[in-house]
Amino acid sequence: MKILVANLGSTSLKYRLFDFSNGGERMVARGGFERVTDYRVAIESCLAELKNGGYIQGSGDLAAVGFKPILAKGITGCVRMDETVLNAMEACVLSAPAHNPPYIAGVRLFSKIMPATPMIGLFETAFYQWAPEAAMRYAVPDSWYQLGVRRWGYHGASHKFIAERSAELLGRSDVAERVRRLYVDGPNTPVREPHLRVISCHLGGSSSVTGILDGVGIGNSLGMTPQSGLPHNNRVGDLDAFALPLVMRSTGMTLDEAERQLCKESGLKGVSGGYNDVRDLQTQAGQGNAKARLALDLLAHQARHWIGSFMFQLNGADAIVFTAGIAENSAALRAAICRDTDQLGIELDAVKNAQTAAQEAVISTPESRVKIMVIPTNEELVIAREAKRFLEAGK
Ligand code: AMP
Repeated sequence: MKILVANLGSTSLKYRLFDFSNGGERMVARGGFERVTDYRVAIESCLAELKNGGYIQGSGDLAAVGFKPILAKGITGCVRMDETVLNAMEACVLSAPAHNPPYIAGVRLFSKIMPATPMIGLFETAFYQWAPEAAMRYAVPDSWYQLGVRRWGYHGASHKFIAERSAELLGRSDVAERVRRLYVDGPNTPVREPHLRVISCHLGGSSSVTGILDGVGIGNSLGMTPQSGLPHNNRVGDLDAFALPLVMRSTGMTLDEAERQLCKESGLKGVSGGYNDVRDLQTQAGQGNAKARLALDLLAHQARHWIGSFMFQLNGADAIVFTAGIAENSAALRAAICRDTDQLGIELDAVKNAQTAAQEAVISTPESRVKIMVIPTNEELVIAREAKRFLEAGK
């Protein structure tokens, strides 16, 4: 079975082809197009590349195309991307203005070009559908809630990957199996005692922290939109809602401009005065740039804030996992996040931490009650796996 995973940006198309034949699980091809002006041409070029490379004879060889949509009204999980789902995504364009329009248009084009191939989406909100209601609500009037003003949580594919892989590495095959079957059976696969408590820290261009109890997400630092939670590269993260009227009223700024600044000029870039890449921030901080230092400190502080929150909700933690571009690569940031937490049973091994970049490793001391791990994430593989399970479940 071959499954193409397509990542749709407003002017980009990235793809990966997975081959599940003979019980295997291999990524056999990957590619992408930037500065796309005609999406139809990009999709046809993607299929031509796969044909010319000998990976497929034609689109009929693809069992499905998998997508990673973020938000639809009243729909989550792993679903067929039919018109009902696309209309439900259209109903959420105000909450996801950067993400939903290119996804809706892209999926419609894929369906037109490959009408016989199932289009399957794994919503980024899916991992939190069993989180307690109190964890997902804002304290707003009901009329606001009815408009969709609530926490959703995102990065679901990544945190699900970490939930499964960390359970495997911690010797909890029962929990790993529950995670595998989560979107087919719900969290009903039995697991044994004691509880497995994992905190997954996805720190990258966009960052979030998730608490995972026995393989199920209990909440995520991302709230109603992917602009919230920890500071992101250019996006603000959590902000007191009353900042917006203050800035608009005192400067005469329009709502559109305020929104642009919160999305494109804030986060690490806003605090540091222009640097949004942690590699640049670390170089700058090393050269004495105080604003760059502050941006790094703020990111570490916010990560500690959310890890602390989930440690309390989970009644402790068996493992803290670092994943995505920043957390997989930056030993300095991991050290800053884990500093002075020995009373909580968290003890980083400084040497192992310094030696670890972009590979699976345990970086805590043998005495540390909480295992600290680095696990490179693989969101595309999760989407391909879920699309396969969806087809096999006959949905
Ligand atoms: P992602 O969104 O997961 O691809 O992460 C991208 C981010 O990871 C970049 O914006 C950088 O801030 C960060 N990053 C990538 N490589 C490194 C590295 N070697 N050291 C520190 N940060 C890195």
